[in-house]
Amino acid sequence: VDIEVVQETGSTNADLMARLQVLQRPVLRVAVHQTAGRGRAGRPWLTVPGGMLTFSLAWHLPQAPQNLLGLPLAIGVALAECLNTLNQNVQLKWPNDILRDGKKLAGILLESAAAIEGGTWIVAGIGLNLQVSDELEAQVGRALADAPWLAQMDRNHLLAQLLNALATALQQFAGQGFSAFLSRWNALHAYANQTVHILDHGQVLHTGLALGVDLLGCLVLQTEQGQVNVLAGDVSLRPV
Ligand code: ATP
Repeated sequence: VDIEVVQETGSTNADLMARLQVLQRPVLRVAVHQTAGRGRAGRPWLTVPGGMLTFSLAWHLPQAPQNLLGLPLAIGVALAECLNTLNQNVQLKWPNDILRDGKKLAGILLESAAAIEGGTWIVAGIGLNLQVSDELEAQVGRALADAPWLAQMDRNHLLAQLLNALATALQQFAGQGFSAFLSRWNALHAYANQTVHILDHGQVLHTGLALGVDLLGCLVLQTEQGQVNVLAGDVSLRPV
């Protein structure tokens, strides 16, 4: 993996997406500060200088883009398991947020493009809150989680652990797809057997008991009308 570290950029995901078709090898791009971080559907990912670890990994997978539905969840599993070995006690919120004490500690943005030579290039962007300020919480408009003792850790060492976890997970996904991650995701599910709303552009689309995820990475909901398997698409989950 080629490793690039920049002091400041708009978005490490955008930087790598712009170069995807000419990449020869996997690239890890780390930004000390990101000024235009993005979440899903173009939602902003806000940062404070020095308070966050933001990086993106570009990687080639043999699968076609349509077979990568479970990949964002697999990446969540890999990161959450790694953070848990670092004493963080984190859980997963479907589809792919990492929570600590029910608040968002990290977000994942997965983007992809079909590769010219077959398979898919993916770019997995991660924003991990190390130390959040009141100002950042006010900007985002909700309470956020941070991890002060990760902030104390040597950044290179922390990054190396996360990169190792991601690379192992991507190799596993290349061979076995999401089946290698299904029970691991469900073991980390923050809202297992709790009632949740699924929102589409702010409107409640479904309400039900969140049972877990299926092999496609859909959230399995027990609703009054029966079982519904919700595709991540652009919907959001809220506990009721
Ligand atoms: P939600 O978290 O609202 O369910 P989502 O999971 O789709 O939505 P993403 O698109 O992954 O969220 O991330 C964007 C959202 O994350 C923003 O709308 C904002 O609410 C939140 N956010 C932005 N910056 C941060 C941050 N530094 N830490 C935690 N959450 C943030």
